[in-house]
Amino acid sequence: MFEDLRERSAVVTGSTSGIGLHMAEALAAQGCNVTINGLGDKDEIEAERKRIAEAHGVEVRFDGANLMDAQETARLVTDAEEAFGAVDILVNNAGMQKVSPIDEFPEDKWDQMIALNLSAVFHATKAALPGMKSRGFGRIVNTASAHGLVASPFKAPYVATKHGVVGFTKSVALETAESGVTVNAICPGYVETPLVTGQIGDTAKARGMTEEEVKNEVILKAQPTKQFVTYEQLNGLLIYLCSDAGASCTGSAYTVDGGWTAQ
Ligand code: NAD
Repeated sequence: MFEDLRERSAVVTGSTSGIGLHMAEALAAQGCNVTINGLGDKDEIEAERKRIAEAHGVEVRFDGANLMDAQETARLVTDAEEAFGAVDILVNNAGMQKVSPIDEFPEDKWDQMIALNLSAVFHATKAALPGMKSRGFGRIVNTASAHGLVASPFKAPYVATKHGVVGFTKSVALETAESGVTVNAICPGYVETPLVTGQIGDTAKARGMTEEEVKNEVILKAQPTKQFVTYEQLNGLLIYLCSDAGASCTGSAYTVDGGWTAQ
């Protein structure tokens, strides 16, 4: 355990499922009080909230802010600050994917993807920074993607937003470098979450392949390890970046991608 994380307060966006849910629990396991956020079944979310709080002896609150809305996104952060006295750690993780040839890509999905994957990172960061700067401590970790560094066909809007997140990360890191606030991006390769399983069908359609072929010849082919990235592997980096030991790490995009972007 990193003792310095005990009683820090964290907000993890998009943490009712997949990577965000596991990141929220990893922070709770270090003794952080956590605000979880996201969509989904109310009873299931409440059961997860309660389970994480009880398992780790910390406070866990849920905020169902829709991050496609700028005001809601800022309110998520300011309410968390009011509830726990601070937002020390902000993990901008919520995101969506849609796989389609660009000439068939629906306009409304483009707008939604920009709003959730990119604009919400701006709105939450803007809301969190004044408090972080005034306390002289902050950790902002943005879940970008290997697609923040390299591209794949049929994912142009996603790739555009994730490249945007990496650029935003670098710029804000430079602005906050002397304030005790660090800003980094984590760039995962493929993790077996609902977001990935949900795109297998669309990719099969776009590429004229079976779903099994997509899994082996598209998804795992991108990763030299031929293994999905695990939640634990992402959490190890997240916790390090949020700890005092990570104080000199800022403005970087860290890959956890099984060697994908080395090619
Ligand atoms: P997921 O679909 O399991 O989880 C997405 C989360 O975002 C959920 O909690 C969902 O409720 C929430 N969300 C969706 N729309 C929202 C909205 N309008 N307002 C608030 N919350 C909303 O996906 P995941 O795979 O865990 O992805 C998490 C992040 O990791 C995303 O940014 C994704 O782009 C990124 N990522 C995933 C992979 C992967 O292989 N799974 C790889 C690289 C990057």
